[in-house]
Amino acid sequence: MHSKEDHHHHRDGDDNNNKNNIDIDLSLSLHHPSSKKQKTTSSPASSLIQKQTSPTNKPYRTRRPPPIKPPTELINPPPFPWSTYNPCKIQSLHHLTIAGLLNISGTMQCKNCNTTSSIDVDVHSKFSKISEFIRDFKHSLHNRAPKSWMKPALLPCSHCNTTSCLVPVVPSDKTKINWLFLFLSQTLGLLTLKLLKYFSESNGFYLTGSKDRLVYSAYLALCKQLDPSGPFDMD
Ligand SMILES: [Zn+2]
Repeated sequence: MHSKEDHHHHRDGDDNNNKNNIDIDLSLSLHHPSSKKQKTTSSPASSLIQKQTSPTNKPYRTRRPPPIKPPTELINPPPFPWSTYNPCKIQSLHHLTIAGLLNISGTMQCKNCNTTSSIDVDVHSKFSKISEFIRDFKHSLHNRAPKSWMKPALLPCSHCNTTSCLVPVVPSDKTKINWLFLFLSQTLGLLTLKLLKYFSESNGFYLTGSKDRLVYSAYLALCKQLDPSGPFDMD
């Protein structure tokens, strides 16, 4: 009892140069890099094998990947009032509400007549819809985007009256992409693999492989940016 209290006391106090302090620091610095290294070098296949052959090792698949520092190049000015200076990062729902940004817009183009139009989306109702879907189905999605995100239903064109033909306009300058609009209109799945990888890397995670994983992680990352306290971490 006494020694435990003593230990805690010295951990908090910077002035007391105590042996416990040094021991704690050493053990932390020794453990951290080695466990990180193991996680980054193991492919899903090798972690599966290890899981089966050595039951004492904790399975890597259940761990969160190590945080990788995103690129620090800032975008100044941010492309939209709901963007931030950080590439591919948007303001939180709290911030948007305070700023009165309850409706946001984006540009769509008709695949049939090429007419472009500005489309408004209600931030709160669309976010509720997407976040409820994630809450309800996250366990069964296995980190992969469902069909409705991969091949989204498209809006009709009011100009030529064609159904399912409006697609978001994606600027050639990737720093000017309207991520919040793509998210709320649930059209992230229409982006190229290259742009989805750019989003993923800008948010500090490096995913290899299939598009459905990249799309899924983009939805979760944007949910998390809007509501940082929500259950939007990858499994
Ligand atoms: Zn049209």
